[in-house]
Amino acid sequence: MPIYEYMCLRCGRLFERIMKVGEGGPPCPDCGAPETQKRVASFGTNAWATFLDRMERKVSPEKFK
Ligand SMILES: [Zn+2]
Repeated sequence: MPIYEYMCLRCGRLFERIMKVGEGGPPCPDCGAPETQKRVASFGTNAWATFLDRMERKVSPEKFK
C-alpha cells in the first residue's frame, strides 16, 4: 500500500498515512481537522500561496463568488 504525505489545511502540520485506494483523507493528528490535503510530487514553491488561497476561501468565501 502506498504511503501518502498529507498537510493539514488548518494548522499546517505534515504527516504521513498509509491509505487504501478510494479512502478519503485522514483527519489531522494534531488538531483533528478533517481538512487535509494530499501532497503530490509537484508540490513546489507556490505551496504556501496555494495554502493561503485555500484558507482565504474558507474564511472569506464571499470574495470568490
Ligand atoms: Zn491540524
